[in-house]
Amino acid sequence: MMKIQRPANAGETDIELARTPNEKPRVPNEDTLDPTDWAKFRQFAHAALDHCIDYISSVRDRAVWQPVPDDTKSFFKGPVPYEPTALKQVLEECRNRIMPYSTGNIHPRFFGWVHGAGTPVGIISEMLSATMNSNCGGRDHGAIYVERQVIEWCREIFGLPEGSSGVLTVGTSMASVIAISAARSRQLGPRARQDGNSSDCGLVGYCSSEVHVALRKAFELLGLGGAHLRAIPTDADFTISIEQLSAAIKADRAAGLEPFLVIGTAGTVNTGAYDDLNEIAEVATREGLWFHVDGAFGAWARIADHPWKEMVRGIERADSLAFDFHKWISVPYDAGCVLVRDARAHRAAFAERPDYLASGVSGLAAGDPWPCDYGIDLSRGFRALKVWMAMRHYGIDQLGRMVTKNCQAASYLGSMIKNSDLFELAAPVSLNICCFRQKRRVTPEADDRLILQLVEQLQLSGVAAPSTARIKNRLCVRVAILNHRTGWDDLDLLIKSAEENLRRIV
Ligand SMILES: *Cc1c(COP(=O)(O)O)cnc(C)c1O
Repeated sequence: MMKIQRPANAGETDIELARTPNEKPRVPNEDTLDPTDWAKFRQFAHAALDHCIDYISSVRDRAVWQPVPDDTKSFFKGPVPYEPTALKQVLEECRNRIMPYSTGNIHPRFFGWVHGAGTPVGIISEMLSATMNSNCGGRDHGAIYVERQVIEWCREIFGLPEGSSGVLTVGTSMASVIAISAARSRQLGPRARQDGNSSDCGLVGYCSSEVHVALRKAFELLGLGGAHLRAIPTDADFTISIEQLSAAIKADRAAGLEPFLVIGTAGTVNTGAYDDLNEIAEVATREGLWFHVDGAFGAWARIADHPWKEMVRGIERADSLAFDFHKWISVPYDAGCVLVRDARAHRAAFAERPDYLASGVSGLAAGDPWPCDYGIDLSRGFRALKVWMAMRHYGIDQLGRMVTKNCQAASYLGSMIKNSDLFELAAPVSLNICCFRQKRRVTPEADDRLILQLVEQLQLSGVAAPSTARIKNRLCVRVAILNHRTGWDDLDLLIKSAEENLRRIV
């Protein structure tokens, strides 16, 4: 290594900076992270892509899920890799240590939680967006136009008026934070950002007791307080009781509090229930509340056939709508969106441009709006590409057909459960979710334990991966169908395997 003479007055400055003008830096110019041999890189890249295509086209032949073995777990406790590793070896590690242990949601018999399946086209779009490596916080470049296009398409699909704003997010959780922040901004004005919620802040919001935890977290994160999001009891069909909603608003006003927001869920996570969005919209209008809709997966029933598309009636009346692309329309993780009717309130909640973010009239710093004016993230990836490619390639009608197919599958499964000697439905099947439990009851604790055991065994067997839900305080097997690959045979196999496992346990 070249010894650099440290000038007497170098003070605290880095020794690397203290070189004579003609001296070249220690790291040679041609030292970059690019390959030295592009042809070889191309071979590796093609092989990796081939592996991905093999992997996805043969998914049905593999177990839905398998536990991560101990030696793999220890492999991921390795030391910091200061030295390089050959690409060939790193790719092998991906292939052998990582890819076999996926969540399983690309498999047609993955039924757990609310997971999207992805698509082969998603593989390509992720590769293209990684190649461009666009930063989508703002400025004037192609990716921004793609994002605006996607937002416009969604605005039209969900029936919000022209001039509404929107931004792509990680998912519905962040979309909810943004929406509630915009609602607060409308309620409090500039005070919302300047002073925050003062200690006597009386803002309260409303949702049903079936609301997703993401909304409560958003309340907590915004400092509104989880208790200030009132969980209104549901009617027998798991939808918010409008009577009790109105009563709660009245009681809070009488107590001197300031109701500002009501949340409707379009597709609850437990049973896929839809709050009556039109009725909530009426309440919101009457009471002057911001009407937010959580449509994480359920909003997409809008593009399905009758009767499912009717379930989202009233969604077009939302002041804000949060939904995911990565759940029901199979865009690879992660991709969500928030749409806001009052673009000014949305912008008021987030826009702020210090000098280093000033926009220009022309040139790269031009263009408006910038996504960073509508959310928290400044540096943002090119999420919009995978959404745009999915919509453009498959078409909304075809994506809608997959939603319809999943609902039909859930209803098929529901009818099989009704005919089963061992199982019964835990809730009516109204969408793509079917919850069931054993007919034979012992004690509530023993019944719950049995459900846990059954679900675990199904997962460990690799045949199917449902999850559980608690409905009317009793645990049940929950099968959520969001995968475009799931066919009727997969459900036959699920039932057969569930019955066999149950017989073995009891
Ligand atoms: C999944 C889900 C959320 C949270 O969305 P993320 O994309 O996981 O952040 C919120 N609400 C409902 C109804 C959901 O299903």
